[in-house]
Amino acid sequence: PETHFGFQNVSEAERREKIYQVFENVAEKYDVMNDSMSLGIHRVWKDILVHKMNPSPGTLLVDVAGGTGDIAFRFLNYVRSVRERQLQQKLRHHQNLSWQEISKSYQEEKSNPLGDSQVVVCDINKEMLKAGKKRAQHLGYSEGLSWVLGNAEELPFDDDKFDVYTIAFGIRNVTRIDLALQEAYRVLKPGGRFLCLEFSHVSNPLLSRLYDLYSFQVIPVLGEVIAGDWKSYQYLVESIRRFPPQEPAMRLFETRQCKPSMSRTFQLVAVCCSARP
Ligand code: SAM
Repeated sequence: PETHFGFQNVSEAERREKIYQVFENVAEKYDVMNDSMSLGIHRVWKDILVHKMNPSPGTLLVDVAGGTGDIAFRFLNYVRSVRERQLQQKLRHHQNLSWQEISKSYQEEKSNPLGDSQVVVCDINKEMLKAGKKRAQHLGYSEGLSWVLGNAEELPFDDDKFDVYTIAFGIRNVTRIDLALQEAYRVLKPGGRFLCLEFSHVSNPLLSRLYDLYSFQVIPVLGEVIAGDWKSYQYLVESIRRFPPQEPAMRLFETRQCKPSMSRTFQLVAVCCSARP
């Protein structure tokens, strides 16, 4: 099939610009398209990522290439539910607590349901962030959430700032993955964690044929029908294809700071590493 503009022989700057255009074009329909292209499965993968992260109240997360906030919203829900569970456990043992202590716990929980956790969504694309903010407003997320325009290769954050760094379906769109990893470890606190979700190759030959058919024949058509944009969805399919198979993909993440552990399911690689000790 024809090679899409993102992969023609172009300079890094041009490629970055083309990728910017793709996400600028898809931003408004991004969430609807994600559901229809993956039949909703991306939701399960993102849930798994946040369960793997298992953040405790007080965690500071940066979600890079965070787009319209899917990981951030899940993170906030998760932390809130941990806080609620902690409070319930405390109350279950209320025989040992005075009424003052019980009411203090309630008030603390009410005034700070996230236990000081925060998530920063960082993305290079203004339109994706705009769509994310609109969605956050619509879904009622505001506490503990902020949106920052920034490039994964040159993050606008101080050193040693975050407990966790996530990047979901973003790394394959970054022009210089090596720089993005360097930046990830710079902004992570010592002992912080790096978690990445990305598509890779389907190893089962039969499934791979089916996936080829689906991705080349169906996804651009869905893109055209739902979002009026064939080319951008062709780029998304091709960018997945150009991403290395699972084992070499895992080696991409190996650095001095990170000995990755990888989970693989079907077409997905999930990488999890601890940053500097
Ligand atoms: N993480 C979100 C999700 O899982 O739904 C969005 C993933 S979307 C496929 C890829 C995102 O990567 C887009 O929002 C795009 O703007 C962003 N992106 C691409 N290159 C980037 C870069 N160099 N730095 C930060 N974000 C980037």
